[in-house]
Amino acid sequence: MSFEIIDFHTHPFLSDVTNICNHKDHIPMDTDYTLDLMKELGVSRICGSVAFVGEYGDTWWDKIRRNNDEALKLQEIYGDFYVPGFHIHPAFVKESLEEVERMHKMGIDLVGELVPYLDGWESYKDPGLYEILKLCEEYEMTLSLHSGEVPEQGMLARDFPRLKVVSAHPGEYHDFMRHVEWMKKCDNFYLDISGYGVFRHGMLRTGIDMCGVERFVFGSDYPTCSPAMYIGAVTLDPSIKDSERELILAGNAKRILGL
Ligand SMILES: [Zn+2]
Repeated sequence: MSFEIIDFHTHPFLSDVTNICNHKDHIPMDTDYTLDLMKELGVSRICGSVAFVGEYGDTWWDKIRRNNDEALKLQEIYGDFYVPGFHIHPAFVKESLEEVERMHKMGIDLVGELVPYLDGWESYKDPGLYEILKLCEEYEMTLSLHSGEVPEQGMLARDFPRLKVVSAHPGEYHDFMRHVEWMKKCDNFYLDISGYGVFRHGMLRTGIDMCGVERFVFGSDYPTCSPAMYIGAVTLDPSIKDSERELILAGNAKRILGL
């Protein structure tokens, strides 16, 4: 059986500057490569923000704006294949609010993946972030977050019930169970399966049994991680039913993002 696959968590790139694959010296990678690889694996759409390791410009906001503009350029190249995610920054509330408005006007309602440690900020409890998320909630946006303290992420879902909060990376057993506990508390809290955790046998079955299949989204974290591994985790795990695979691989992302 073949499945529609949407990769909810990627970091596409225009050039090596924003290609965060650690092994790129051994694989020639450009914008066509991403398209070809994903098509080869049956992925029809990718989502997510441009990530940049290091500093750029005079302030962190210069870097945020640069990455967001690159995401828009990639959307021009990829068309419907790419659902851009954009960055905000809690130390730049005014600029971030303007960015939320700019993106919303262009029909872009995916914030992140936010990766605080790459962009010079730390906590999901930052009052500046709360200020910006009020507007994101008004627009019923989706917020994709790099793994951090699970309680802080769960609290964002609790405090912004109309925001869809998707945490990345299940993590090891105790982190994963903390995700599950918060997903049971907040209907708007989801988990994308990229990164650590999915290689633990039975993780996905446990999560589905405890809080329902609607809460899990397929993501790879390409080009840091290999999409094939995460597709295999869903399609080759005999404990997962085809109807559940359909939702995890595409159905849930479509519902969350309104695609
Ligand atoms: Zn990521």
